[in-house]
Amino acid sequence: MIAYGASMMLKDRLLEESDKAEVNICERCGLLAYYDIKQRRYVCRVDGDRAKISSVAIAYAFKLLLQEMMSLGVAPRLVPKEKV
Ligand SMILES: [Zn+2]
Repeated sequence: MIAYGASMMLKDRLLEESDKAEVNICERCGLLAYYDIKQRRYVCRVDGDRAKISSVAIAYAFKLLLQEMMSLGVAPRLVPKEKV
């Protein structure tokens, strides 16, 4: 199935042409960063100025799952392995 490009087709259908969303995460702790309108930049709640913010593409439904977990007191962390 991989030889026929099934993984690329699934990625295209389920992410690129569906609900792709860009979120900003802190590479130090893996938590979602938020945009501080006063400082005009993305900020990590845990690391503050030491944070290294990077943008990742995930499905919007997955972003909602992360935010639901955060509302329940769970801290989901995204750990990027390599940059593409
Ligand atoms: Zn952080």
